[in-house]
Amino acid sequence: MNVKDSEHIIGELSESYTTTENPKEADLIILNTCSVREKPVQKLFSELGALRKINPKAKFGVCGCTASHMGEEIIKKAPYVSFVLGARNTSRIKEAIKKEKAVITDIDYDETTYVFKNVHKNPYKDFVNIMVGCDKKCTFCIVPKTRGKEISIPLDLILKQIENLAKEGVKEITLLGQNVNNYGKRFSVPHPKVDFTDLLREVSKIEGIERIRFTSPHPLHADDKFLEEFATNPKICKHIHFPLQSGSTKILKAMKRGYSKEWFLNRCEILRQIPDIAISTDIIVGFPGESEEDFNETLQVVEKVKFEQIFSFVYSPRPLTEAATFENQVPKEIAKKRLWRLQDLHTKILEETAKKQVGKVYKVLVEEIGMGKSDNFFTVKLDKDPNLLGKIVDVKITKANKHTLEGELVKDFK
Ligand code: SF4
Repeated sequence: MNVKDSEHIIGELSESYTTTENPKEADLIILNTCSVREKPVQKLFSELGALRKINPKAKFGVCGCTASHMGEEIIKKAPYVSFVLGARNTSRIKEAIKKEKAVITDIDYDETTYVFKNVHKNPYKDFVNIMVGCDKKCTFCIVPKTRGKEISIPLDLILKQIENLAKEGVKEITLLGQNVNNYGKRFSVPHPKVDFTDLLREVSKIEGIERIRFTSPHPLHADDKFLEEFATNPKICKHIHFPLQSGSTKILKAMKRGYSKEWFLNRCEILRQIPDIAISTDIIVGFPGESEEDFNETLQVVEKVKFEQIFSFVYSPRPLTEAATFENQVPKEIAKKRLWRLQDLHTKILEETAKKQVGKVYKVLVEEIGMGKSDNFFTVKLDKDPNLLGKIVDVKITKANKHTLEGELVKDFK
């Protein structure tokens, strides 16, 4: 989401600025920030300081989620910062630049009908926002406080944008939102009733779009209608990011996730019936109140589902969140040890699953010379033929490493 927000900022400023890889020659340096964990927030100030040393003449701006929750405190801490622009206010970037010391952090701001100028680095794939904000109240998460309440972007605006991208040669789109499969819950304009499955069906009718991805779906909203569409729509890539967070129903309750371990496992059981599907997830280790038993339940879920990818982190208390006030915090050392155990288990699972990849034939979108992504989101190294760029080709896997696959072309490309 932050990558797309950065592209929106670049698009909005494209009449007055061009981008540079060299901070020394920049007139304007914008840091687009995340605040989902503590580390990126700490990094903001060290990064600002380092960039200021390299280029003291540049104008500095801070955007994104940390901008939303820290606001003018950023300017107090780093007085050379000229503006602060929240994650919900990206469309107001030009206004922020014009006004010295502007602090725009309105989380009720509605930009769901604003059409951003489109910029995408990769000519064959792009991200498309389908909603802003989040209505959930997960007790560990700062996002509702930085991105505001959930509003869906009108269907016709999304489809128009994707049609335009298809005309430009984009083949793969990723639909973006905090809870994509809750799409249609609320619009800020009069709108016919529509849900995420309806949206997927409409997007897949667009000529030129060959692959559809989305992130992130919420396990709570993974109803049968959605799973059926996911399984049967040939344009939908068979990779799903399905954030577990914890394998203990007790902890899921404390997190206010809205689903149980059993519900999650049942959804994964249905998903695993799809041939060659890959499931990735997020797991928080050491959430307040997590006992050894709760953690073991997480390990059991990991064993059962055998996720292809896990983003795992030690719980980090965030400001403005309920869980930060919980008294039963787990000591960092215990949480770290649990994280290592989880990661060890996952490494073993990956070694097992990697072996099973050899001999499979995957459809790969060649994104750079010699490199592409399979339908189920593996990075695949293949022939270094520039003629393959942007094509979807069949690749037979000849070697499987932990994070990448290697293969050779089996058919003429389209
Ligand atoms: S669903 Fe929960 S974790 Fe995801 S953005 Fe919303 S509050 Fe945060």
